[in-house]
Amino acid sequence: MSLRRRTFLLGGVVGTGAGLVAFRSAGAAAAAYPFMLGVASGEPSADGFVLWTRLAPSPLALDGFGGMPDNPVGVEWQVASDQFFGTVVASGTATAVRASAHSVHVTVANLQPGREYWYRFRVDGQISPVGRARTAPAVGTSPALTMLFASCAHFGNGYYTAYRRMAEDHPDLILHLGDYIYESGAADVRAHTPAKEITTLADYRVRHGQYRADVDLQAAHHAAPWVVVWDDHEVENNYAGMVRENDTPAGDFATRRAAAYQAYYEHMPLRSAQAPNGPDLQLYRRLRWGSLATFHMLDTRQYRMDQACGDGTKVCPEADDPARTITGATQEGWLLDGMGQHLATWDLIGQQVFFAQRLSSSDGAKSMDSWDGYTANRTRIQNGWQSRGNTSTVVLTGDVHQHWAANIMNNYAGQDRVIGTELVTTSITSGGDGNAASDGTSSLNPHVKFNKNLRGYVRTVTTPTQMSVDFRVVDKVSVRDYPVRTEKSYVIQAGNPGLQNP
Ligand code: FE
Ligand code: CA
Repeated sequence: MSLRRRTFLLGGVVGTGAGLVAFRSAGAAAAAYPFMLGVASGEPSADGFVLWTRLAPSPLALDGFGGMPDNPVGVEWQVASDQFFGTVVASGTATAVRASAHSVHVTVANLQPGREYWYRFRVDGQISPVGRARTAPAVGTSPALTMLFASCAHFGNGYYTAYRRMAEDHPDLILHLGDYIYESGAADVRAHTPAKEITTLADYRVRHGQYRADVDLQAAHHAAPWVVVWDDHEVENNYAGMVRENDTPAGDFATRRAAAYQAYYEHMPLRSAQAPNGPDLQLYRRLRWGSLATFHMLDTRQYRMDQACGDGTKVCPEADDPARTITGATQEGWLLDGMGQHLATWDLIGQQVFFAQRLSSSDGAKSMDSWDGYTANRTRIQNGWQSRGNTSTVVLTGDVHQHWAANIMNNYAGQDRVIGTELVTTSITSGGDGNAASDGTSSLNPHVKFNKNLRGYVRTVTTPTQMSVDFRVVDKVSVRDYPVRTEKSYVIQAGNPGLQNP
């Protein structure tokens, strides 16, 4: 169905929540405004992307239904080639239903490669904020890519200034590498709703709704398409596969994981084909960015071998036990098969937890909630990409709430040869205000070159010959609206792995 332009133009102020304000001041019934959670795009391909919104006039309604009635609602959508919707190139109507909390996931196709578009939704004459999306470039082309990545945005720990600054960097693409929400009830700078550890589907919906109602987070979604993967806190701290952490409330973990995965799907710009099936959701996937880069997005949570073996009932295998896996065998094979296809210059592996070896003391202590806890799995993957001749591999990581940069070695003990590069983004807020003076680099880990304990994100600009990397930081998140600055920059050359000074 084609929509009449004149009525739709009301929402046509581009960008970062401004459309919402303009629309409300035009005299609409703000109490019933259905787009309180903003809009989003994701999963860019050369001919389209996914559009997302969720109707929720009351995002914090404790039943998790956002103040929506039982009935299905038709949601009109438009994609235009200009921000004022002068030329609408695609449109349609999606149906939002209560079973998926009135979320919609529209797959738009048949667009032009390598260009930006704008999109919006309408329900009952009320118009959403306008979002900016982008298609991936065509295979055979390699235009420069500005990609930002982020992780770990504990709402209670501070304000989402870093998300706002990401929007202001005008990226082509944003990756979120997990801990998009936190399940705890902890409050520090801001209060969580509900103010308890969440476990039910209603709880997870309310928590996602609270996060998504934040205008700084919305700004980042409205600025560019996102490609998302989760870590642990979207469900529960440090869970592994189907095993809950020992100190959290007992109960049926499969039911809890299913509730958390359902709410995650409902709030992310994922393809409808990725809708969960009970406690399972296919999240690892590949995205092609022309002939410049292939994004291999991993899920290092869902398929982990049981690591919660401290309760005395199971034998806990060592990190180098070949059976111990963070990816699962199927995903490991899928990753190496995809890298072996050499689809583009760069192989960018977006994933959750620290990849390179990082010893915390001279007796070899290390985090088991990282690839150091799964060294056989890591060695097979590293050897796999080496033997396939992938020489422009960059691992993109979140989780640890500090910026880190490391060379990936074929032999960490011998420090023999650099075979890849790891960039670890700090948190958006988790951990609260940082400490610029601390420095965790040490002679224990000579391949680890940089560490900074401040909040922020990582900015990359990738071309066929090099990737420029900026570690972006804000000094405080306990106070709104701090400026961002670049704390450290590196260059990575295509075909010559490792960190270099610019
Ligand atoms: Fe985190
Ligand atoms: Ca985590």
